[in-house]
Amino acid sequence: MTRFSGKVALVTGSSNGIGRATAVLLAQEGAKVTITGRNADRLEETRQEILKSGVPEDHVLSIATDLATEKGQDELVNSTIQKFGRLDILVNNAGAAFNDDQGRVGVDQDVSVYDRIMQINMRSVVTLTQKAKEHLVKAKGEVVNVSSIGAGPQAQPTFMYYAMSKAALDQYTRSAAIDLIQYGVRVNSVSPGAVVTGFGEAMGMPADMHEKYGHFMESRKECIPCGKMGQPIDIANIIAFLADRKLSSYIIGQSIVADGGSTLVMGMQAHNFMDLLKQ
Ligand code: NDP
Repeated sequence: MTRFSGKVALVTGSSNGIGRATAVLLAQEGAKVTITGRNADRLEETRQEILKSGVPEDHVLSIATDLATEKGQDELVNSTIQKFGRLDILVNNAGAAFNDDQGRVGVDQDVSVYDRIMQINMRSVVTLTQKAKEHLVKAKGEVVNVSSIGAGPQAQPTFMYYAMSKAALDQYTRSAAIDLIQYGVRVNSVSPGAVVTGFGEAMGMPADMHEKYGHFMESRKECIPCGKMGQPIDIANIIAFLADRKLSSYIIGQSIVADGGSTLVMGMQAHNFMDLLKQ
């Protein structure tokens, strides 16, 4: 018996990055998983990665669909119930950031960018959770949302709409947690810092630029004090912990920050005070 034996998990955004690592981990630990994303090829890569680790084929349901549509969300919940008969764990992981196509920044970014970001990062979480609720209540299940340290309290003028969507998600996590705990359903979230995934590419960033960004961040203690970018499995392990009632049953409505220390440093603290006095 593994820790998620008999459980069924739906992991959004599992065709890449953090969601893929999470789906693989939950499946390896016994869960039946529904994996999803729009990109059918990448989704198949996730499925193959799961099967490679010895998970039986009938433990994986693969659905290529657009999560930003309610039709796609209905398909996810209905097909999961049809195939597996229950839903214990909902991981609201899918997310994205978009640039203004005319390069506008700060408050001048077009409101269509705001709409697109809120649609996938926040609205889809609200409606998918509504659709999954009756099944999660039946199973006394768990919801784990994937937020971001971008939610604040620091300002994020470059990616302000993305940051706003994650700040909204944090409030949703807290409020939904108190609403749903009356039915025995727990809601928590994880707030990653900089993690090596397809996120940059999805924003249109070429691979070498994304690598350059990673090296810059890793090499500066005021950016990532632990000196390395996060890997998807670092976050997947926390999602599995929050989905594991035996380990985390008393954690309700919280977000666990996993960022290599990034949010603990202020620019002024990054400089050595004693060195400054000697100058
Ligand atoms: P990836 O781009 O690697 O993965 C994003 C996933 O979301 C993909 O599987 C993508 O699938 C899916 N997705 C995006 N839009 C849609 C859509 N409309 N319909 C269905 N699926 C969609 O990025 P990450 O793994 O980094 O992102 C996962 C989560 O982690 C996001 O919520 C992100 O905000 C958060 N996060 C990431 C950080 C990082 O540094 N990487 C830092 C903090 C938070 P497909 O393209 O196939 O549709």
